[in-house]
Amino acid sequence: MILDIEKWGSEKLRAKAVPVPFVTDELRALAGDMLETMYKAKGVGLAAEQVGRTEALFVIDVPESCEDDDETRAFNANVKQPLVCFNPQILSTSGEQDGREGCLSVPNCGADVTRAAEVTLQYVDASGVPQIARARGFLARAMQHEYDHLDGVLYVDHLDDKTREKVLAKMAKNAKKKKR
Ligand SMILES: [Zn+2]
Repeated sequence: MILDIEKWGSEKLRAKAVPVPFVTDELRALAGDMLETMYKAKGVGLAAEQVGRTEALFVIDVPESCEDDDETRAFNANVKQPLVCFNPQILSTSGEQDGREGCLSVPNCGADVTRAAEVTLQYVDASGVPQIARARGFLARAMQHEYDHLDGVLYVDHLDDKTREKVLAKMAKNAKKKKR
């Protein structure tokens, strides 16, 4: 089932996620719907907040082609995607990377954001089994972006005021263009 995606301005995007006590069939179905919604919107990640929910849950599927180099692709090969992450925790980060970021809730625009280069993420998978994933490059970026959503934080919050205004103005302008 395709879900409605909350857009910039929605208070639901500012909610703090609540950990799930255990993974039920209903939550597995929600994760499935979130993946379906994400693929249809041509996104690479989606957090529960973005579909108006408060469970600590995000899904990610970053195509290999999003990574800059073979080394990163090889490093990330150990992470089985699509990722369904309940109760995610970033255990550690290292390094720094700058790169382009966008968001299905802040559509039709993007900006460069500084993130950690490497992330170790702990989460509970769709079967209720605890997992640990280590990632670099764009996949590590997606993990940090989705993790932020569960804290009610959007990528534009990381930008300085002037850049944020520019990005949001572009979002509004492109939305008008699309309607025409
Ligand atoms: Zn997002």
